[in-house]
Amino acid sequence: MIAVRKIARGVGNIELQDVPEPHASSGQVVIEVNSAGICGTDLHIYLDEFETRPPVTIGHELAGVIVELGRDVEGWRVGDRVTTETYFSTCGRCLDCRRGRRNLCVHRRSIGSKEEGAFAQYLLTPASNLHRVPDGLDLEIAALTEPLACTIHGVLETAGVRAGENVVLAGPGPIGLLALQLAKVAGATVIMLGTHFDIKRLKLAKELGADAVVNVQEVDDVVESVRELFGSEGADLVVECSGAAAAAKTLVDLANRGARFCQMGLYGKPITFYQDAVCYKELVVTGTNASVTSAWPKALKLLAQRQVDGSRLITHRFAIAEWDQALETVKKKEGVKVILKPGLA
Ligand SMILES: [Zn+2]
Ligand SMILES: [Zn+2]
Repeated sequence: MIAVRKIARGVGNIELQDVPEPHASSGQVVIEVNSAGICGTDLHIYLDEFETRPPVTIGHELAGVIVELGRDVEGWRVGDRVTTETYFSTCGRCLDCRRGRRNLCVHRRSIGSKEEGAFAQYLLTPASNLHRVPDGLDLEIAALTEPLACTIHGVLETAGVRAGENVVLAGPGPIGLLALQLAKVAGATVIMLGTHFDIKRLKLAKELGADAVVNVQEVDDVVESVRELFGSEGADLVVECSGAAAAAKTLVDLANRGARFCQMGLYGKPITFYQDAVCYKELVVTGTNASVTSAWPKALKLLAQRQVDGSRLITHRFAIAEWDQALETVKKKEGVKVILKPGLA
C-alpha cells in the first residue's frame, strides 16, 4: 500500500512510499482508514519541530472500519466503525502512567510520529485504543474525534470553561473553531481573534456561534475593542490556539486579574512575552498535551449530537497520492480541516 512517510529527521523529508500492509498480532486490530485529518502537528513534523522516529508513516486523526482482528481481541468485530486513540504504547510503569496520565508518559509512542500512522490505506492499533463511532455519525466527521478530544482535554477538563464566563480565543484554525464550539456548549460568551489571513475563518467562527470576532490587524487597540464587546469587562479565560507569539502577548493583555490562560497552540520555538503579568494578575496558566481517554466518548457524543458541528470544518479532501497538495493547502491556511481519503483514486 502507499503511505505518506517521514523518511528522515530534518525539514521536509516526507515522501510517498510503498510499504507492506500491516497484520494484527494479539490484542491488535487493523483498521481500513476511511478519512484521516491533517493536523498542525503534521506541519510541525514537516518542519521537524516535533519528535519523530523515521522512517514512519504520519497521520494520527482517523476513522475507519475494522478489517482484521488479532488473537484475544474481545468486543470488536470485522466491519465495526471505529476511531482510535493515538498512543500505540506507553510504559505502564512510570508515575504518570500509574496516575492515569498516559499522555504525559515520556516513553509514549504515538501513531503518526513514532509508530506507523494513518496516511495509508490500513492502520494497525491496539484494540484497547478503539472507540465505536455512533450510528449516524459520518466516518469523515468522526476523523475529527482526536482533535476534539485534545480540545476537550485542554478547554473543558483542564482550563474548565464555565457558563457565564467571558472567553477570548486566538486562532480560528481547526482547534480554535472546536474550542469555540465547546465554550459555547458550556455557556460562555466567546470572542474569536484572528488576522488578515483568517478573514474566511473568522466569518466561519461567527457562523459557528462566536458572539463576536475581531481582526486584530483592523482595530487600533485590541484590548479596548474586546472590552467594549464584552460590555466593559475583560476575559475570564483566554485560549491560545494560533501558535503565534504575538497572540500570546495580546491574550495576556486581555486577561482579567485572576483569569486563566490556556495554551493549546504550539509555537515550535521559544517565544518571549511579559511573564510578570502571570504574577501581577495572578493568572492560572494551563497546558495540554494531546488527550486523555475520558475526552474521547465526550468528543464522539458531541459530534454525533451535532452540538459540535464537524461538517463545517472539513473543507478539503485529497487522495493519499495528492498528499503534497494537501499539505500545501494546510500550510497556506486555505480552508480549515484538510482530510486525506485513501478511498479516493
Ligand atoms: Zn492532531
Ligand atoms: Zn509511562
